[in-house]
Amino acid sequence: MKAVFYEGNQKIRVGQCAPVPPKAGEVQIKVSYAGICGTDLHIFHGHMDKRVTFPQVMGHEMSGVIQEVGETVTDFVVGDHVTVRTSGLLRGMSSL
Ligand SMILES: [Zn+2]
Repeated sequence: MKAVFYEGNQKIRVGQCAPVPPKAGEVQIKVSYAGICGTDLHIFHGHMDKRVTFPQVMGHEMSGVIQEVGETVTDFVVGDHVTVRTSGLLRGMSSL
C-alpha cells in the first residue's frame, strides 16, 4: 500500500507502508481518492510540526471502500463506499 509521508522541512515522499488491521469499532478503508486540505498545507509548511510525528502520513480527507471491519462494527460491511469525516481519532493509514 502506498502513502504520502511528510518528513519535515517541506519534504514529502511517496512510499510503501503496511496496512493496519482494524481494532474493535474500527474499519479499514481502501482509499480511492484523497484531497489536500488546509491542514495538509499547514503540515507541509511546518506550522504543525509540534503536533505531528515523523514521518507523518498525510491525507485525512478521502473516499474509498471498506476493506475490513473490526469486531463490534455493525453499521458498515466490506464493500461499502464511504467518505471520511475527520473530526475524531484516526489511526493507521490516515492522519490527524
Ligand atoms: Zn482537512
